[in-house]
Amino acid sequence: MAILVVGSVAFDSIETPHGRVENCLGGAATYFSLAASYFTPVRVIAVVGEDFSRENEAVMTSRGVDTAGLERANGKSFHWTGSYLQNLNEAQTLKTELNVFETFSPKIPAAYQDSEYLFLANIDPVLQENVRSQMSGVRMVCGDTMNYWITGHTEKLARVLKGLDALLINDTEAKMLAKNDNLVGAASRILQMGPKTLIIKHGEYGATAFFSNRSFPSGTEVVTLPFRAPALPLAEVVDPTGAGDSFAGGFFGYLASQPEQTPLVFKTAMFYGGVMGSFAVERFGTERLQTLDRNEIDLRFKLFRGLSHLE
Ligand code: AMP
Repeated sequence: MAILVVGSVAFDSIETPHGRVENCLGGAATYFSLAASYFTPVRVIAVVGEDFSRENEAVMTSRGVDTAGLERANGKSFHWTGSYLQNLNEAQTLKTELNVFETFSPKIPAAYQDSEYLFLANIDPVLQENVRSQMSGVRMVCGDTMNYWITGHTEKLARVLKGLDALLINDTEAKMLAKNDNLVGAASRILQMGPKTLIIKHGEYGATAFFSNRSFPSGTEVVTLPFRAPALPLAEVVDPTGAGDSFAGGFFGYLASQPEQTPLVFKTAMFYGGVMGSFAVERFGTERLQTLDRNEIDLRFKLFRGLSHLE
């Protein structure tokens, strides 16, 4: 089942305690697509500038990602500059240059229309809403956002939240969005804003799903307790950039590959999210996500099970 994703395709300049890279391929939709591509077909909607080379695009196409919806515009690609020198678990944004995204008007290729799953990766909520409204027939919509859009575009973001089956967001941003410093309190406030299910990511500590009585189709078991999936304790985190988007790619890619979304499938998807996030941080940029295979992914999934199961 194909996933259509809209979000940033970018160049990132990143500094971490392991070093610094300039203008490496990044962006929320890029990390998401690569991670999800190990589970299901992925189609991208985004815009890039004249600085985006065929080799950059080949990183996605060589994983089978469909880039027919990747528009090329005059100007420079989105550029994000971030630092993890203060805190390896949370990026400090030094600069956000939207560039060609400032004037982007998404056009969805006819061949994308039958996509059953839609992922609104991190980008301007106006673009997320635009794509959502052009894809009214999809089976499931998940979305992500970050502090940049929460603080500056609150009302536009509120409209996006209303149409989401699941929102994925990190814990600091969840508290910011809900204006509540308690995780459980923040989660119940956000569930009132629209998403049927909420996944709060805790970086190196895993992720928690909060369910509502709308999380699963009627007739399915009602899940009231939150569910916590672990993250893998790693001896070395080289570059945390893209961990959240890779989590989303593993999570949604696995969900879309399954015939039904039962609570067990949903919880398993959270484990696959953690698996893909753990790979992403092992190298700078998208490098590690480019060369995995399904066997490696499933071996790590077993590690995740061992980490959190009594038997
Ligand atoms: P994360 O998974 O949260 O680490 O996401 C990192 C990616 O998000 C980077 O590759 C950036 O290019 C991208 N990014 C950073 N800021 C924004 C923003 N305001 N909107 C969309 N994408 C962004």
